[in-house]
Amino acid sequence: MPRIITALFAALCLCFGLVTIAMAESGAPQAYEVQKTDAEWRTDLTAQQYNILRGHGTERPHSSSLLKEKRHGMFVCAACGHEVFLSETKYESGTGWPSFYQPASQSAVGTSTDYKLGYPRTEVHCARCGGHLGHVFNDGPQPTGLRYCINGAALNFTPRP
Ligand SMILES: [Zn+2]
Repeated sequence: MPRIITALFAALCLCFGLVTIAMAESGAPQAYEVQKTDAEWRTDLTAQQYNILRGHGTERPHSSSLLKEKRHGMFVCAACGHEVFLSETKYESGTGWPSFYQPASQSAVGTSTDYKLGYPRTEVHCARCGGHLGHVFNDGPQPTGLRYCINGAALNFTPRP
């Protein structure tokens, strides 16, 4: 009998360890300032916004009207209005997605590792609601050398004088 209990305990520890690793990997349960149920997000966002922001989807390249947005202003998270990118840091990357070389502030976005394509990529999300925005790569222009490759559908633009 004690042997069975020991075996059960070992199995339990193993399961717990795996769950802990999985949670750390996904960076998942995190407390964001803006929290909504899945049903609320579905109601508040368009189908495309929901697919990208909540489902980590990607819009078709060259499909965003924000690609050609050249006015001075702020790009905000389409899900919660958080200020994420400034027009001054937007540039033409030629990828077909709105691209920026840095976030609006240090607290604008968060990152986590994404293995969706089988290799690690750095996923970028809104720091306030956790909504998926896009990815960041190391082939951007100076001064940062970073390319924030962002889905236009995950953003709204607010022009500023
Ligand atoms: Zn947000």
